[in-house]
Amino acid sequence: MGKMYLCVEIGGTNLRYGVVEETFRLLEFDLLPSAGLSQAEDKGAYLEMLLAPLLEKYGKSSFRCLSLSLASLMDRERTICYNSPNIKGFDHLPLKAVLEKRMGLPVIMERDVNTSLLYEMWKNDLSREGIVVGVFIGTGLGNAMCIDGKVYTGSTGSSCELGHIPVPGLEESCGCGKKGCIELKACGKVLARIAKERYRCPVPEIFVRYGDREDVREVVQMCALATATEVAILDPACVILGGGVAKMQGFPLEYFRNTVAENLRIPNPRASLKIIPASGDAQAGIVGAAIHAGNQKL
Ligand SMILES: [Zn+2]
Repeated sequence: MGKMYLCVEIGGTNLRYGVVEETFRLLEFDLLPSAGLSQAEDKGAYLEMLLAPLLEKYGKSSFRCLSLSLASLMDRERTICYNSPNIKGFDHLPLKAVLEKRMGLPVIMERDVNTSLLYEMWKNDLSREGIVVGVFIGTGLGNAMCIDGKVYTGSTGSSCELGHIPVPGLEESCGCGKKGCIELKACGKVLARIAKERYRCPVPEIFVRYGDREDVREVVQMCALATATEVAILDPACVILGGGVAKMQGFPLEYFRNTVAENLRIPNPRASLKIIPASGDAQAGIVGAAIHAGNQKL
């Protein structure tokens, strides 16, 4: 068995892939729109074709495994994708078995929020002791947790659904199938709706142009309240704050930080609260997938 990692990140917009060394140095990196995979009838054949040049260049025996990072719900054993909201044909897909058969390599899958969190911990040289929480404000409100260096996936593999904690009085239905989830008030989708419908403003400019408006602030406030809830329960060593919304120009980081803090108990965890903005590196999911694979026994 080789020592390098062949990694793929399947996102809603982009499909990224590359080769990562044992030391997590990136050797190859490329990306293309995910639309091709979304339209492909045979997902396994598509991915095999995409990765063939890298397998040819380095030789299959150089690789320890194929490690996938996906924006998908999956089972506890990480073998089946239950549902991937932005990619067609991923419902109940036994992707691990499909790819192992085709590629002849062990296949590891993990949720993108978890691989991203592992990458940021590695990049920021964070201690593996204790709990580190990731909050990712993107299209939805993503969440991840790492305990003593290992991602926590829960007893059924469905932990860290921070976006789906209940909010009293909220009667709207959520994409997850239940009513009243905080994500209905706290994510990029809400911000995009406000930008388009109320301000007729390009979404990336919403904070710069309308960041002080109450409705825009409320989205950030709800993200902060969800974060404070998690911090109050876990008392983590730190919170990594990532996602496309948190990276947008004019994102009110101080307001976010203060809102989390004022909803925490005195003296701690209010005084000890540490929020680190994520790097936003394009290769985070790829290198994170390699780090995750490195933590696994194959
Ligand atoms: Zn929900």
